[in-house]
Amino acid sequence: MASTLVGKQAVVIGAGIGGLTAAGALAPHFEEVAVLERDALPTEPAHRPGTPQAPHVHALLTSGQRALGELFPGFEQDLVRAGAVPLRAGLDIRVERPGYDPFPQRDLGWVGYAISRPAIEFAVRRRVQGLANVVLRQRCRVQEMLTTAEGTAVTGVRFENDDGAGETLAADLVVDASGRGALTLGLLQSIGRPPPEETTIGVDFSYGTCVFAIPNDAPTDWKGVMTFGQAPQSARGGLMLPLEGNRWMASFGGFHGDAPPGDVEGYLTYARELRTPTIYNAIKHATRLREVVRYRFRGSIWRHFERLDGFPRGLLPIADAICQFNPVYGQGMSVAAQEACLLGTLLARLARESDPLATLAPSFFAEVPALIETPWSVANLDFIYPDTRGQRPADFEATLKFGMALTRLAAEDAAVHKLTAEVQHLLKPRSVYRDPALVQRVLAVMAKM
Ligand SMILES: Cc1cc2nc3c(=O)[nH]c(=O)nc-3n(C[C@H](O)[C@H](O)[C@H](O)COP(=O)(O)OP(=O)(O)OC[C@H]3O[C@@H](n4cnc5c(N)ncnc54)[C@H](O)[C@@H]3O)c2cc1C
Repeated sequence: MASTLVGKQAVVIGAGIGGLTAAGALAPHFEEVAVLERDALPTEPAHRPGTPQAPHVHALLTSGQRALGELFPGFEQDLVRAGAVPLRAGLDIRVERPGYDPFPQRDLGWVGYAISRPAIEFAVRRRVQGLANVVLRQRCRVQEMLTTAEGTAVTGVRFENDDGAGETLAADLVVDASGRGALTLGLLQSIGRPPPEETTIGVDFSYGTCVFAIPNDAPTDWKGVMTFGQAPQSARGGLMLPLEGNRWMASFGGFHGDAPPGDVEGYLTYARELRTPTIYNAIKHATRLREVVRYRFRGSIWRHFERLDGFPRGLLPIADAICQFNPVYGQGMSVAAQEACLLGTLLARLARESDPLATLAPSFFAEVPALIETPWSVANLDFIYPDTRGQRPADFEATLKFGMALTRLAAEDAAVHKLTAEVQHLLKPRSVYRDPALVQRVLAVMAKM
């Protein structure tokens, strides 16, 4: 049988969802994969400083769940064992949007899971730790990448190890899953290459999150609630999902400086002022299990590595290092896992070539935009707010009207509802909305609106 190996040593920077899933994809193709993580990694699902977003609601889209199952067969059962709450798509989350309070709840035919971000990451980490040729090194902060003298190839990393000593590790491939991409951008600058062009959508979205025990008299017609404001007048929304351990996590937030207060009273007042009372009524007498935590997200960033003219051999940024999405749409972990699947597919294909690592990054960059376009088109909706910074798409108004009519059709027709949920869960590309028969039906609705 032909070898699937493409190199001896791979290094992954960061043990978040991007780094762990990348390690899973790399393992069959390298003799050893070392994952270097600056944090001490908890021995149970728990928050850690390197992922300050983790105490907030993290929805796992069905595409992400399936990608994780592709990388780690049987992963869905790991989630179930970790206490994840099964959610019937279209049925178990009450969605409240202007004109639809609630949007029709129907069983669309598949099951997703709600679980905390630390528990998802912990489940993935256990799978990675079970891979014989993957070494997970905690308290190792990568300081810089090492290159050949001419800077045309990355040859390893320099890092501070868990004893506080400097150490280097040579590698055939370095994957930058550090979240911010600062190491890759620093490397490009140090070798005199231009940074990738960026598309940005500035939103200044502020989160406030708290966790509650689910009371015995909790409503039975939903397991979670998503409440949208009346955009563009009010950008306030809320998402409450169940978690392992019979808990609810409720995150509220607003755009452009409309921030939930950090004290409990202010947080509950903010909840009471949402467009609908459903979440407030559910939590107002529930036992609070944690203090309110907050997070501010400045904006979505898409770094267009695919437009660069040449890229150092032996280096690959992945996940948030390429694209950070507005978290309110719940896409980042799922796109990270999808990118890891793409990496695995490419490595399997390129392993047959004489110099696989010469073409890995260009091939990856060429195919990643197809994964990002659909979730990014959702982030474009943020231009509904006049204060949003960035280049508003020329067809924004038309897209918005089409979307409103499509939503109306989805409320009336279960098949269209299912299609929109499949796009929202990144199971199908947004291009399915260009189907001529569907377009005709949407135009007919638009004519009546
Ligand atoms: C408030 C908020 C809510 C979100 N909600 C959702 C959601 O509902 N659903 C969803 O799918 N996504 C959500 N996301 C996005 C999601 O968290 C990320 O997209 C996802 O975790 C993938 O990120 P990553 O692995 O690239 O980076 P990260 O998760 O940021 O991980 C990067 C890792 O690299 C480590 N690291 C950084 N620098 C170094 C270094 N120099 N050396 C060694 N290690 C280093 C960090 O400690 C960290 O462990 C949310 C994000 C935010 C901010």
